[in-house]
Order: sequence, then C-alpha cells, then structure tokens
Amino acid sequence: MTETTQPLDDSASEALEVLHRVFGYATFRGQQGEIIETVVAGGDALVLMPTGGGKSLCYQIPALVRSGVGVVISPLIALMQDQVDALTALGVRAGFLNSTQDFEQRREVEQAFLSGELDLLYLAPERLRVESTVRLLDQGKISLFAIDEAHCVSQWGHDFRPDYLMLSQLHERWPDVPRIALTATATEATHREIATRLNLTEAKHFVASFDRPNIQYRIVPKDNPQRQLLDLLRTEHEGDAGIVYCLSRNSVEKTATFLTQNGIEAVPYHAGLDSRLRARNQSRFLREDGLVVVATIAFGMGIDKPDVRFVAHLDLPKSVEGYYQETGRAGRDGLPSTAWLAYGLQDVVQQRKMIDTSEGDAAHRRRLGTHLDAMLALCETVQCRRTQLLAYFGQTGETCGNCDTCLTPPESWDGTIPAQKLLSTVYRLQHERNQKFGAGQVIDILLGKTTPKVTQFRHDELTVFGIGTELKDTEWRGVIRQLLAQRLLAVEGDYGTLLLTEDSAEVLGRRREVMMRREPERVGRSSRSSSV
Ligand code: ADP
Ligand code: ZN
Repeated sequence: MTETTQPLDDSASEALEVLHRVFGYATFRGQQGEIIETVVAGGDALVLMPTGGGKSLCYQIPALVRSGVGVVISPLIALMQDQVDALTALGVRAGFLNSTQDFEQRREVEQAFLSGELDLLYLAPERLRVESTVRLLDQGKISLFAIDEAHCVSQWGHDFRPDYLMLSQLHERWPDVPRIALTATATEATHREIATRLNLTEAKHFVASFDRPNIQYRIVPKDNPQRQLLDLLRTEHEGDAGIVYCLSRNSVEKTATFLTQNGIEAVPYHAGLDSRLRARNQSRFLREDGLVVVATIAFGMGIDKPDVRFVAHLDLPKSVEGYYQETGRAGRDGLPSTAWLAYGLQDVVQQRKMIDTSEGDAAHRRRLGTHLDAMLALCETVQCRRTQLLAYFGQTGETCGNCDTCLTPPESWDGTIPAQKLLSTVYRLQHERNQKFGAGQVIDILLGKTTPKVTQFRHDELTVFGIGTELKDTEWRGVIRQLLAQRLLAVEGDYGTLLLTEDSAEVLGRRREVMMRREPERVGRSSRSSSV
C-alpha cells in the first residue's frame, strides 16, 4: 500500500486489469499486489515466497505493464519451453534463449526481441557469459530483470550455479532497469547471501509466510520402506499424482519397478537416464493424471504441477531446506496433500559417511553436519512439525493440528536410564577395549545376545552385557536415533561406528536428563524388528 489516500493510481489499476484480462484471476494473492507495484514503479525487489505462492506473476505482470521486454534469468532450461508455451496460450508474447536451440531458432527470438515483439524473454544464466547476448540486450529495450531461483547464487546452498555470480553485473551494466529476485528458499543466511551477492541490499524485501497449511507433514520410522510406501498409496492416495524421492539412482529404479509390479503406474527420473527418456518421463508426469514419478533430487526444481497430492521421501533429505523445497512441490493448488518421510538409523549412518568423505574443507563439512543435525531434530521432535519447520525459517506459528505429531501426539518419556546404559556400553567398548562398533553390536550386548560376534570379541564378559533387556531391538534403535539427534552420541565411518560426544559425559555423570519420543502405535501391519 502507498501512503497516499488516493484511489488506485494508474499503474496499480493497470496491473489489476492485466491480472483479470490476461491471467483470468480476480484478486492478487498475498503480497503480489505490493511487489508488482514496486517493480512497475521501477524499484528493485527481493521476494521470498514458498513454492506455489505465485511468484511468476510478480514479474510477468510488471513486464506487461512496463514498456520493453522483461528478461527472466532462469536455470530451468528444461522448463523454458513449457513456460513459454503456457504464456503463449494466454496471448503473452514470450520466447527463450538457451543451449537447446539451433542457430535459426535463436536468430528468430533475437529478431523478435530487437523489434519489440516480445513481452518476456527467458534466458539461461550462462547466456550472459556470451558477449553477443549482452550486446543483443543492449540493443533492445528492457523493462525489468527477473532473477528466478535466486538461491542458486548461494555457494552453500544445494543448488549453487556459478553463472549466477555474474548476475551482480546486471545492475552495473543496466542501472536503470529494475530487478526482481525470487526464491522459495528462505533461511536468514540464504536471504542475506542473495541480497549481498546480487547487490540487492537497497531493494525492497518481501518475505511471505512459509506455511503451507494444506500440506500434512508426517515422518515415520523406516521399517520396510517400499511396503510402507505402498500402504500409504493404497490407503490414502489411490490414483493420485505424486513424487517419491530416493537418494540413489539404484533405489529410484528399484522403487519404480516395485510400484509398477504392484499396480501403481510409476516412472523413474534421475541424472543417469538417457536424456530423452528423462524428458519424456517428466512431461508425462506433467501432463498425465495420477502418475507417480520416483526420482532423485535432480527432479523437481520449478516443476509446476498443481495437483501433486503427495511427496514421499524414502531416504532422509540432507537438510531442512531441501526437505521444505521438495515437500513444497505437493499441493500447489491448495488442496489437502501429504508430505511423508520414512527415516531410520541407517540414513544417519549413510549421510554421516557422505559428509565425512565429501569434498570441500572442514568448514564445509561442519556446515553439512549442521544441516543434517537440524533435519534429525525435525524427525525426532515431539512438538508440532510445522512449528519446528517454520522456526527453522525464522517464522513463528501456532501448533497446526495437521501434522503427525499434532494428530497423534507421541508420548515423551524419561529415557535417561536407557541413555546411560547405551552410552556406558559405548564407553566401555571405547575405553576398556579400545574398540568401536556400530549400532547392531551395541544393541546385541545390551540385550545379552550370545551371537558369534559377541563370543568372538568376548563381549559377554563386559559388565554391561545383558543390562538392557527392558527394551526391544527396535526401541534401542529409536534410543540411538534420538541420542544422535540430541548430539549425545555420534556416528562415523563406513560401518557407522558409535562414538561418545562432548555432551555424553553429562548423561553418564547423571547431570543431564534425556527426554525421548515414543512412537505412537502404528496402525496396520506389525513391524519387523530387523530393520533400522
Ligand atoms: P511459484 O512460482 O511461487 O511456485 P506460481 O507462480 O507457479 O508459484 O503460481 C502457483 C499457482 O498459483 C499457479 O497455478 C498460478 O497460476 C496460481 N496463481 C498465482 N497467482 C494467483 C492469483 N492471484 N490468483 C489465483 N491463482 C494464482
Ligand atoms: Zn502440527
């Protein structure tokens, strides 16, 4: 809102007119009106808005209202054709320039740009490295620069694109052209980084609420993930379109096959697939009803399919930001949708290992570790998942009533004694025997199982042997997960060996209580105890 008391000024009413006439919508959503007003007036804007919030209109409408061509920088080459087709269908004159075109196609778009026959021009960021593109832009009239997926400028984010770093030059070269940067990633740190790297500290910042009330968040212990997924789909999402995320290409393939064999139409998507097949699976997902795509995280940035009814993770995402982005692809139409994640101890072991062996310096690995810890904390919380998720993005919210912890509150119980027993087992192995073992062996010792491996290492002679029979194997795994989430225990190496942390001593020395989460009784199938 402007401070004047006049009715809508010309540009505001023009924006509204475009919203009605071109896009067929009655009113602006959230902060769209103010954002559009800012850019139409020639100001810079930095927009943080969740997926499905309606970011595209924030630059498309100003591009139509202002004279000249709106230049949209987007890393999503695969989607440019779709975006341009969608705009063309609305009567908007749009084109794109990227590496998929041949000379002739490029020339046609360049011609249209120069003769003012375009409203919007989509550009892959690497085009700006080419001097001829920069000269081309110089010769036309630009109404605005829109920098989509602006978090790609963040070197620590999960989608870093080196070419985005050059975008700070837009302002130096075309100081009079307003810029609008948009992203659905919104931690304080990324926000600040975008503002400084893109030279947008003077811009008006618009931070929308990141709550997605129609998404129901659920995180369950991993038991037999494919079966659990099948149950979910059969009981709640029969015939629905959805995305299933897996960590590896191999599990993508296996899961897609498994679903297909069980009567659910599913296609795989990962970077190892032939590019034509990949493109075909993606476009089938966008166009057909009720198709399930099983994918690595390579799939999804910019996917604009409104009726994705569920996003399922069969492996733990690497960060809360990633989890939020991926789950955010569900329910863009505002209808009830499910974000479901199955998570187990093995995920933690595996990710720890990936961090330990990752490239980059110690600071980088520490950062990855912090991301993982935050994700674990979300998994093991006894509080509202949504509140915790929003808190991660610096936003507050009420207990939501639409997540698993709200709907079936887990009991919290005093796990101090089991924690002491477990940590003291790890302590004895480490200090009395100078040995390191993974969860399986530690649990066998606590349960007093005389396995060949226990006998071989004479672990039945330890004083802690058999002191933990009050809990089942699966319950001990829950204890370990929660100690990891609270950083009272650490895991490392190929075999996921357990180690004490600085804070473990407080529990062992009885100076700290440990509250734990008891999983609510699951409905349906009985669980198998061998899983993690
Ligand atoms: P984002 O880029 O933020 O993920 P989009 O721009 O793709 O979101 O918009 C998400 C959906 O909401 C689209 O289907 C879009 O047409 C619709 N939408 C956007 N703004 C409005 C509005 N003011 N009224 C109704 N629908 C809208
Ligand atoms: Zn909740």
